[in-house]
Amino acid sequence: MPHPKEDKTVLIIKPDGVKRGLIGEIISRIEKRGLKIIALEMFMATKEHIDEHYPKSEEWMKKIGEKTLKNYNDYGYDVKKELGTDDLLEIGKLVRGWLIDYMTSGPMVKMVVKGIHAIEMVRKIVGPTLPSQAEMGTIRGDFSVDDSTAANRDKRAIRNLVHASGNQEEADHELLFWFAPEEITDYKRAEDDIMF
Ligand code: ADP
Ligand code: MG
Repeated sequence: MPHPKEDKTVLIIKPDGVKRGLIGEIISRIEKRGLKIIALEMFMATKEHIDEHYPKSEEWMKKIGEKTLKNYNDYGYDVKKELGTDDLLEIGKLVRGWLIDYMTSGPMVKMVVKGIHAIEMVRKIVGPTLPSQAEMGTIRGDFSVDDSTAANRDKRAIRNLVHASGNQEEADHELLFWFAPEEITDYKRAEDDIMF
């Protein structure tokens, strides 16, 4: 097994994060924790890019459906009445379509983050999918209150500021998909010797 310090993950600041002027704030939170940015670029994604970025499996779409259903139940909203279906896969498909529109609605910033347990640490800094349920102190909890019940009413994706690879499999795919090997650098940070 490689050293835990070698772990890498992908973080993307979504169009709402960029348009709200939060690029610096988001990067700063990553750096202050002791994680290193080893690739960074602003770009405009195509619909095809986003279609390839997110998993296409039924399992992934059903998980989205589950999270959505739970959110509706928590607040007493009727998912079937609002979305026309309570089928987990159908909900997942609907959301995937809105997601493609959202992620192509403006420039984004993509980066590779390296450091101890990078995938899990970045997810912790980002917070859970629904900003309305994210703890304050997380990026999603500090800068948004959006969730499925609100977003789906307006037929749009939840604007939750950032994407972060959810597990090793997603990180492996996203690293290869978004970055050429020569775009990923490395360097020693001044505090490396003191912190680790
Ligand atoms: P995460 O980004 O936390 O890994 P998922 O992978 O489950 O979350 O979902 C991908 C993205 O899809 C979310 O970040 C969010 O922008 C959007 N999304 C998820 N569920 C819904 C929903 N019910 N309605 C609208 N957008 C959603
Ligand atoms: Mg995800």
